[in-house]
Amino acid sequence: MRYISTRGQTPALGFSDAVATGLAPDGGLFLPEQLPDLSGRLAGWAGLGYADLCFEFMRVFATDIPAPRLRELVNRSYMRFTDPAIAPLRRLGPGLHVLELFHGPTLAFKDFALQLLGQLYGHQCEVRGEAINVLGATSGDTGAAAIHGLIGRPGTAIFILYPDGRVSPLQERQMTCTGADNVFALAIDGSFDDAQAALKEIFADQAFRTGHRLSAVNSINLARVLAQCVYYLSAWLRLAPAEQEDVEFVVPTGNFGNVLAGWLLQQIGVPIRSFKIATNQNDILYRLFTTGEYRVAEVAPSLAPSMDIQVASNFERFLYYTVGRDPARVREVMERFKATGDYRFADWNAGAFTASRCSDAEIPGIIQRIHRQYGYVADPHTACAFKELTPGRTSVVLATASPAKFPETIRAAIGVEPTHPSLEALKARPVVKHRLTAKTGAIRAFIEAHAV
Ligand SMILES: *Cc1c(COP(=O)(O)O)cnc(C)c1O
Repeated sequence: MRYISTRGQTPALGFSDAVATGLAPDGGLFLPEQLPDLSGRLAGWAGLGYADLCFEFMRVFATDIPAPRLRELVNRSYMRFTDPAIAPLRRLGPGLHVLELFHGPTLAFKDFALQLLGQLYGHQCEVRGEAINVLGATSGDTGAAAIHGLIGRPGTAIFILYPDGRVSPLQERQMTCTGADNVFALAIDGSFDDAQAALKEIFADQAFRTGHRLSAVNSINLARVLAQCVYYLSAWLRLAPAEQEDVEFVVPTGNFGNVLAGWLLQQIGVPIRSFKIATNQNDILYRLFTTGEYRVAEVAPSLAPSMDIQVASNFERFLYYTVGRDPARVREVMERFKATGDYRFADWNAGAFTASRCSDAEIPGIIQRIHRQYGYVADPHTACAFKELTPGRTSVVLATASPAKFPETIRAAIGVEPTHPSLEALKARPVVKHRLTAKTGAIRAFIEAHAV
């Protein structure tokens, strides 16, 4: 299978090259040239364990990796998860399930994609006999998960940009207390969007990018989207037939990467009824899906910091399909949006999406209510998803982080402070971070000095 850019000005690439490239040279995002139809395979996949299901799914897309090797990479990716189900589906009540995506090494859903991406990079290094420098921007969880996918891996270095003082103390410790000498946590003076803008600019410089064999690890990487399809598939396969027909996946959303994966799965033959985009007070996607206007606002730091995003980079993949797979239209919309920070879609159709928005003032009350009603402790991101469930649907709420990552918010809401042994261990280790301005010059100089 080959992969094309949403902007149509990059030749199609095979899976491994598209993964290694990250952002397409024309500024677009990679998508499969043709979407496969998996509807005929679902029944046969119903009894598989998580890693086997992931292998079967990924082999449809990663056609340039020999099957036994792919199986090995997938198995290793999910080895460090602590729950035997990998992504357990817990029933809270009639028509209400929680899909727990926080049993990986950094206790957030991003481990699903980034453990696999780390394995794919390792594979790439071996095949090409070349070192890789991985570069990413994070609002918290991506950086930690990316780092833990590559920690100590020979032939790789990883540089993670994050907004200084705007990630939780535990998230920062996960990035800065690794003790690994191939890991560089760069604390940027600015917002997540500033960090992401700097990253895009660095990647736009072809000479620098190829000279240092840079690869992007933020949520635009094709492998991440595909790896994330698997937990939707796994959950859907485990629902009762009646629930499969009317299920709505409720997704705490920031960069649109998580929910896009679910939607893509629907496009390739898994009959999921709908998706709810649950934002925090940074509500650009809520406004888009309820009004048809895509307009940036200031980022307001919130209790659910991994969703403190205004420019949802994965939206471009969805846009490609909504404008009828027309790269010229994608370029036009994205250029206009970049220039003015605003795009109004005529005849906007939200399709399979509903949306909700949750302010900071509401989050503690929701955590309290879920705890009282179901005896369940939800982290602040997951709490946003519980804001309003669509009546008459079976809801599967994606629990994107462990509550133990946000102990203060949870204690303030329900009076108990969740802990996790892996987080306790971090508190004894020294913090190593590098403070930089959001200017690309300073970041480039740092990369030049430390790249492998
Ligand atoms: C990254 C993250 C999100 C948002 O996911 P997107 O793919 O950016 O929409 C939600 N919750 C948590 C805990 C996260 O780490």
